[in-house]
Amino acid sequence: MPNSDTTTAPTRVDTLIHAGWIITVDADKRVLHDHALAMKNGLIHAILPSSEARQTLSADTVLEMPEQVLMPGLINLHGHAAMCYFRGMADDQPLMTWLQEHIFPAEGKWVGPEFVRDGTELAIAEMLRCGTTFYSDNYFFPEDTVGVVRASGIRAQFCTPLLDFPTNWADGPDTYLEKGLALAEQLKDDDQFVVTLGPHAPYTVSDAPFRKVIAAAREHNLLMQMHTHETQGEVDDSVRDRGQRPVARLQELGMLGSDMQCVHMTALNDEDIRMIADSGTTVVHCPESNLKLASGFCPVHKLQQAGVNVTLGTDGAASNNDLDMLGEMRTAAQLAKAVSGDAEALPAHAAIEMATINGARAMRLADKTGSLEVGKWADLIALDFSELESQPLYDPVSQVVYATTRHQVSHVWINGQARLWERELTSLDEPAIKDRARQWQVRIADWKATSKGEA
Ligand SMILES: [Zn+2]
Repeated sequence: MPNSDTTTAPTRVDTLIHAGWIITVDADKRVLHDHALAMKNGLIHAILPSSEARQTLSADTVLEMPEQVLMPGLINLHGHAAMCYFRGMADDQPLMTWLQEHIFPAEGKWVGPEFVRDGTELAIAEMLRCGTTFYSDNYFFPEDTVGVVRASGIRAQFCTPLLDFPTNWADGPDTYLEKGLALAEQLKDDDQFVVTLGPHAPYTVSDAPFRKVIAAAREHNLLMQMHTHETQGEVDDSVRDRGQRPVARLQELGMLGSDMQCVHMTALNDEDIRMIADSGTTVVHCPESNLKLASGFCPVHKLQQAGVNVTLGTDGAASNNDLDMLGEMRTAAQLAKAVSGDAEALPAHAAIEMATINGARAMRLADKTGSLEVGKWADLIALDFSELESQPLYDPVSQVVYATTRHQVSHVWINGQARLWERELTSLDEPAIKDRARQWQVRIADWKATSKGEA
C-alpha cells in the first residue's frame, strides 16, 4: 500500500521508470497502464502505479517514458552468432547446397578464434539493438567469445558443437565433448551464461557419440540443443538409411526430455508430436530461416495444442539474414495462421511468450527471467511508440507484434544495467565493430572470388 505518511523517507532504488505501458508476460498476462518499474541490485524491485511510486520510491536514475512500453528482454533461443560475417554471402539456395557448397568451405577457411570473437561482437551489437537480452549460440571456439559476451553484458546460452567429423575447433566427437564439458565447468557458477551440449543434427552425429552426449548431459545436469527435422529430406533420408524417423531415433536413444531443445522441427507427424509433448521436449521455432531455405513448416499451432513449450530463434544471419527478434515474432505469428489455416493460431500475446518466458523455461530459468515480476533479474527493454507509425494505439501487445520494428527499441537493461540507451550501445564500440566487419568482408569476398575462379 502507498505510504501516506510524508515524514517517512522514500525507499531508494537504482533506477525508476515511469512507463506508458508495461507488458509483464506474467501468468495473468497483465498489461499495465501508467505504471512504474523499479530496479535495485540487478533485480526488479517493484512494479506499481506511477502515482504510488512517486510517493514511495526515490532513485539515482528516474526516467519518464509516457509513450514507451516496457516488456521483458527478448530471448533468441537459436543461432550461430559469428555467422553474422557470412550474412548475404550465399542466398537463395536450398539447405544442403547452401551448407555443403558455401558454408562448410567458408567455415573451413575462416573460422578461428579471431573470426569468432569479431563476428560474435557484431552479432551481439545487432541483438542488443533489437531488444535481445539472452541469446543462444551454437558455434565453434565458444571459449574465445566468453570475453566479448562478458564485456557486452548480454546473457548467453552456449550450445557447444559436436559432429562426427573434424572442424577447425576439434578433431572428433570425443574432443568436441571434452571441450564442451570444460566450458560448462568453467562457467557453471556464472549467471550470465548457460552451457548446453549442442550436437549438430541427427544426420551429422552417429549413435555412439549421441550416447556419450546424453550420458554426459544427465551426469552433469546440462541441457541439450540440436537441429532436428530441419527438412523433409532429412526425415526421408533417415527412414531410408535407418528405417526410422529422426524423432523416433532420439526417443529410442533417450535424448528427448525436458532438458532437450529441438530446433526447427518441420515435417512432423502426429506420432512425432506426441513423443515431443509426452517427453516435455522444447521446440525452437526459426520461421525466417525455414522460409528462406525452403526447409518446410513447423506446426506451431498443433505443438502448442499438444502442450509443447515452443520458443523462438532467428538462426544464424547467414540464413535469416538478420537477428531481429521483433521481426521473427511477427513472422511466427503470421506463419502459424497460414500453416494452420486458422487466424486464431498463435495470437499476439502467445507470440511474445514464445520470445520471452518460453525461452526462459527451456533453459530452466523461468524463475529468473522471461517476464517482468518482482524478484526476477532486471532484464527488460523499452519500445518507443511516440512516432506516427504507432498511432492509434488500442492494444500495446498487438502493436509490439504486428506494427513495431527494431528501430523502436530505445533502451535495453540487463541485470539492471543499461546496455542500450536511446539506441546507443553503452558497452560496445560501434564504430570499431563496423570497421572490423568491413575488413573481414574484404578478405572473405576476395577469397570467394578467387576460389570460384579455381572451381
Ligand atoms: Zn541453426
